[in-house]
Amino acid sequence: MGKTCKPVIAVHGGAGTWPPEHSQPALKSVKAAAQIGYEALQAGGTAVDAVVEAVASMEDSGNFNAGAGSALNVEKRVEMEASVMDGATLRAGAAALLSDVRNPVRLARVVMDETDHVLVVGKSAEQLARAFKLERRSPTESVRAVNQYEAQLNALRQGKGELPKLAELVKAHPEIFQLETVGAVALDADGNVAAATSTGGFPLKLAGRIGDSPLIGCGVYADDRSGACSATGVGEVAIRLVVAKAVCDRIENGRTPQEAAEETVALVKRRVSGVYNDMGFIALDTQGRVGAAHSSPNLCWAFMDEGHKAPVASLTAKFVK
Ligand code: ASP
Repeated sequence: MGKTCKPVIAVHGGAGTWPPEHSQPALKSVKAAAQIGYEALQAGGTAVDAVVEAVASMEDSGNFNAGAGSALNVEKRVEMEASVMDGATLRAGAAALLSDVRNPVRLARVVMDETDHVLVVGKSAEQLARAFKLERRSPTESVRAVNQYEAQLNALRQGKGELPKLAELVKAHPEIFQLETVGAVALDADGNVAAATSTGGFPLKLAGRIGDSPLIGCGVYADDRSGACSATGVGEVAIRLVVAKAVCDRIENGRTPQEAAEETVALVKRRVSGVYNDMGFIALDTQGRVGAAHSSPNLCWAFMDEGHKAPVASLTAKFVK
């Protein structure tokens, strides 16, 4: 196909709760990420280039639960994960259980481009990152993540005292948990779509836990026959409904990305009810239409296309009750 499409990018910084002191830097960072991704598209880059650059910038910002700002697991360690998918070829790559890779999304791309596999985890994934000379970040936790960890652990101790009660605690105190995973979806000038997602995972997760973000179809999906989606929310719920693929399937069946995102949030609420099930999606299709919806209090997100001089950012999209 010739260069006929008008590039579009949308990014998100998670389906969490954003208090005022934290929301301003986050809004700035999603705008910057949308701008970086859009510039990659304008320079002739592919949708994959755009989503990787946009997500890498949010990983570096320290303002989200990904990369430098990753939440800590119950052992007070960082275990990051990320994924990327190319809608033109259905190639995908992902990595998980990472402690010292500066940009997990770049490692996901290495897995996609340079290996025969889709998901590589742990020490071997970190070795792969070293073999491809990806930058490392010292596994020292961010100050914000340590503060959050102490608050989360204290609340857990006072409130319930047992980890299986985590879901109840999150329901009562959503503000202290960081559903601030980052993601991006893009359409390039060739009409191809891509998606990427990156996270530190659910705060206080068990060591070794892998969520939806690096699982293709769950936290991320892209297919030129439908569109692209990056998901954020409770990973254990997202996995069970394969939510990112569910959004793309709806687009393939004729829904707009907005309708598809809203319907899939509603599906989550209907099918996995009675547990903490906050969810959020950004999506786009090959016509460049963008959708965003969430059931969490906020969805921090931004988009950019040729109709705008600068990225448009917001702390909410369509809220699905
Ligand atoms: N989906 C992520 C996880 O469960 C959390 C998030 O979206 O912030 O690991």
